[in-house]
Amino acid sequence: MEKVDFLAFGAHPDDIECGIGGTIAKLTRLGYKVGLVDLTLGEMATNGSVEERQREACQAMEILGASFRVNLQIPDLGITLSRENVEKVVEVLRKAEPKVIAAPYWVDRHPDHEKAGHLVKEGFFNAGLKKVLPEIQPIKRPEKYLRYFLSITSTPSFIVDVTEYYSIKKKAVLAHISQFSQRPEFNQTFLNEGQFLGRIESRDLFFGSQIGKRYGEGFVLQEYIELRHPLALL
Ligand SMILES: [Zn+2]
Repeated sequence: MEKVDFLAFGAHPDDIECGIGGTIAKLTRLGYKVGLVDLTLGEMATNGSVEERQREACQAMEILGASFRVNLQIPDLGITLSRENVEKVVEVLRKAEPKVIAAPYWVDRHPDHEKAGHLVKEGFFNAGLKKVLPEIQPIKRPEKYLRYFLSITSTPSFIVDVTEYYSIKKKAVLAHISQFSQRPEFNQTFLNEGQFLGRIESRDLFFGSQIGKRYGEGFVLQEYIELRHPLALL
């Protein structure tokens, strides 16, 4: 694991791509270092073995240009705020020292997505506490913690234009063949019945439309964003 500027968290090995694949492709193409952290191996998915899913996740990481992808191996459908899980997040935050992190929004169809956001928030806070894992240095908290949307959206704090990078996002999402392919050997699920990818694209088109661009990805910051003065908007 190396030091990065931006660290993205997902509950399952395809969440980050579906949520903010465009932003990650943009950051890496702009020269920033990005790391990816999956909390679980997604072993409870209807399709795809753990090995297949890990291969796909690795391929998606390469497509996005991220520096690394790690898996914290918390049980799928078993994300809890246990001390052990919080410390796993603290460890990765202190080792990668990101300036900004992102995790799923606090409301979602899938309970793991909601819990992932809560667990990362605990880790984010604990990373700055001297008495938590004092052997892992530096004791440091990232500067900002962002939330990104998966199945449910809300009013974003800001929207990133990802138009130029959208084909990379699509490629990274589709690298998860076991989840999204309609090949006959896979069982039909919510993810591969034909509507799921369209839902992601329609959300990103909508966010793009809100800033006068084609594709956008929305983020929520829990605190307010300071602006020097109104003309600094220009
Ligand atoms: Zn997921």
